[in-house]
Amino acid sequence: MDHPEIKLSPYAADLTISNNLTRSKDRFEPLNAPYVGLYVCGPTVYSNVHLGNVRTFLTFDVIYRYLCQLGYQIRYVRNITDVGHLIGDTDEGEDKIGAKARLENLEPMEIVQRYTNDFQDVMRVFNILPPSIEPTATGHIIEQIEMIEQIMSNGFAYEANGSIYFDVRKFSEKHDYGALSGRKIDDLRNATRELDGQSEKRDPLDFALWKKAGATHLMHWPSPWSVGFPGWHLECSVMSTRYLGKQFDIHGGGMDLKFPHHECEIAQNIGAYGGELPVRYWIHGNMLTVNGRKMSKSEGNGFTPEELISGNHKLLERGYSPMTVRFFMLQGHYAGTLDFSNAALQAAEKGLQRLMAAWAKIENLPTTDTGAVDIAGLRDRCYAAMNDDFNTPVLIATLYDGVKWINNAADGRLQITAEQKSSLSELFRTFAGDVMGLKFEVDTSENVDNRSDGLMALICELRASAKADKNWAMADEIRDQLAAIGVQIKDGKDGASWEFD
Ligand code: AMP
Ligand code: ZN
Repeated sequence: MDHPEIKLSPYAADLTISNNLTRSKDRFEPLNAPYVGLYVCGPTVYSNVHLGNVRTFLTFDVIYRYLCQLGYQIRYVRNITDVGHLIGDTDEGEDKIGAKARLENLEPMEIVQRYTNDFQDVMRVFNILPPSIEPTATGHIIEQIEMIEQIMSNGFAYEANGSIYFDVRKFSEKHDYGALSGRKIDDLRNATRELDGQSEKRDPLDFALWKKAGATHLMHWPSPWSVGFPGWHLECSVMSTRYLGKQFDIHGGGMDLKFPHHECEIAQNIGAYGGELPVRYWIHGNMLTVNGRKMSKSEGNGFTPEELISGNHKLLERGYSPMTVRFFMLQGHYAGTLDFSNAALQAAEKGLQRLMAAWAKIENLPTTDTGAVDIAGLRDRCYAAMNDDFNTPVLIATLYDGVKWINNAADGRLQITAEQKSSLSELFRTFAGDVMGLKFEVDTSENVDNRSDGLMALICELRASAKADKNWAMADEIRDQLAAIGVQIKDGKDGASWEFD
């Protein structure tokens, strides 16, 4: 199909992605360019988001932002898991949300709402863009039942006491269970404990599509088989295909979801719709670790973004700003693990300050008639970095060449023309701003508050003396310039006071 009205960037043709399905770096060719379907597994909303979760959602935020920058029209679906995710990621036991509801004596939907709100707040704090659609598992129970019926009618699922299980052995007679994770079904079987005789499953590798609810289970719906609830893997198959089609471009999530969650998703899709693999490019964000161990709620080494900003946690020497954290995470490539440390965050804070200070300086750089900088070359290298599997560390290193130019031009050691200056400004806006999602922050930490007080007292004094000299233009200029950066001056009887917006 031709879409003359939507123009892709010429750089779009060179994007390559480390595709976990093919285990190779593949050129990105969407099924239906310029449209792109992107699905990312969202949070299970039973507790506060920790910084590890933030890393995964940040990874896909930057991928989404870069695809937008290339001119793609993206439908970005990121779900909310609000039922079916059982404690321990197993097929038996209590629902994570149900358990929390019982503990706090609340409705499960109160738990869901509270932690969905928390998740969305945290995303905003880190400047992570909202998806195009944020569907919930409980909003798609009917579709989940329909998909189970489809899988059953194709012979890949069976009923046992009101629960439905996916028949992995049957599926693997015709299809590849392990296509994504590379696992072999015999190895998996050897590594799995035998059924204890109590289980309803025919084979330990089988997984639940529908579970009959026990008497104390809080969240349940009627179905043709029992009053129960859907299995955890099913919702993502249902919501991705519902909104993106039976085949779509990119599926993402944290590395820990590759097996079994994503492997089961593929099996379900093929089990229901047959034929081709449902997703073309599988991308997994690697884990945030603390002293080499995955950050997680159950390890007790996870801190919330609030604790991170306030510094109020035993692992934190002090607080760090959201953009510092963003920059820290982008200094590592998404496919590698990233270890949290105070030293690394402090280094990131300095690095970010250098970058942002240079960016802020561009506007006031002196210009000359001839220039000695190759902005087009720098732009090519920025795109090349991102086109190489979204390599943000290389992008940052490349932008630092621009930082050097800016600092040299500011000191009069490098010539830059007005045109080059405006291209450089656009380059920073695009790559530091739009792609990496960095923004200027008002630092409200204690130290800076003290310094801000001193600075503002000085500025208010200068403004008062301008007024005393009847230099109203200068007094207004100071007030307006401060307002433009979010500082409000209020004139009162006892002089001027100020506050941040
Ligand atoms: P959950 O709410 O547990 O379903 O997790 C939400 C997302 O966060 C999933 O994509 C997980 O893979 C991801 N995640 C969990 N722990 C970490 C971690 N330590 N580092 C990076 N991503 C994580
Ligand atoms: Zn999922």
